[in-house]
Amino acid sequence: MKPAAFDYHRPDSLEEACALLAEHGAEARVLAGGQSLVPLMNMRILSPAVLIDINRCRELSYLRREDGVIACGALTRQGEAETSDLVAAHLPLMAAAMPHVGVRANRNFGTVCGSLAHADPLAELPSVAAALEARFVIASSRGRREVDAGEFFVSALTNCIEPDEMLAEVRLPVAAANARSAFLEIANRAHGFAVAGVAALVEIDGEGRCTRARLSAMGAGDTTARLAPVEALIEGRRLDEGLIREAGAAATAAAEPAQDVHATADYRAHVIGTLVSRALRQMAGQPGGAA
Ligand SMILES: Cc1cc2nc3c(=O)[nH]c(=O)nc-3n(C[C@H](O)[C@H](O)[C@H](O)COP(=O)(O)OP(=O)(O)OC[C@H]3O[C@@H](n4cnc5c(N)ncnc54)[C@H](O)[C@@H]3O)c2cc1C
Repeated sequence: MKPAAFDYHRPDSLEEACALLAEHGAEARVLAGGQSLVPLMNMRILSPAVLIDINRCRELSYLRREDGVIACGALTRQGEAETSDLVAAHLPLMAAAMPHVGVRANRNFGTVCGSLAHADPLAELPSVAAALEARFVIASSRGRREVDAGEFFVSALTNCIEPDEMLAEVRLPVAAANARSAFLEIANRAHGFAVAGVAALVEIDGEGRCTRARLSAMGAGDTTARLAPVEALIEGRRLDEGLIREAGAAATAAAEPAQDVHATADYRAHVIGTLVSRALRQMAGQPGGAA
């Protein structure tokens, strides 16, 4: 199938894009890499009357270090993040997740912010952003506002962006010197969409205690969210094998996965628990942490 007819606009700047969004509101969709939007339009699951193609807004294509964060503009391709020295040096969790996002051809077009805006609870980058405690900069002709992942991800394929707004930038805090991270997922086939996955980051003090834990699971519910009970369980404690097993069980108990043609809810919850334990072993430098 081919998409329903639509009006097409190609602004040259964020300001112009916001003016078009203010004019067309709920009838309009932002087109970034098109890797999710175009298939949905071809299948006529979505039929926006107006497309606002931001691919000429060159000012939105950047990765730069600012005040303890890596700022990533709305037009930054996933492939650019994958090969970025800044990401490799300061966002090892994102660097580990990048190769799992579709295949290289998708990543050459798909944008980091497009994946976040798409808000698929099985997607890699929303979980990474949640675990990193990213800030989302949302722009409109009315100004800018900044929200965290808890506010940004509302439910499956739904974010908190209003019809006259767009995601202009995501701000990803750089890893602390004592941070360790792990990204693990189970997919149906090589490079396929994930069945479930875990993005994890811990900070460990000189005595081997976990002083900070941030974990987010893909496929654990109808939206991207952190595994708060697991974080509370392990913070302040040593990551020994007993605690790691307990954390896996807590993750399984906390998950409320969907059931679909790819997996039952019970299987997904089991996988999430197993991946949490493996991720913690990997970060603690213990055997059994391999994917
Ligand atoms: C074969 C295939 C395999 C894939 N595999 C995976 C995978 O394994 N994991 C994964 O996570 N994804 C996967 N994807 C999806 C891919 O990663 C997309 O790139 C991503 O989900 C959307 O990014 P995009 O830039 O292409 O956004 P688009 O497709 O252009 O837009 C997606 C949605 O976000 C909105 N949007 C985009 N940018 C903005 C913005 N700045 N502000 C507000 N709204 C915005 C659009 O209006 C649309 O609703 C796959 C896609 C294909 C075709």
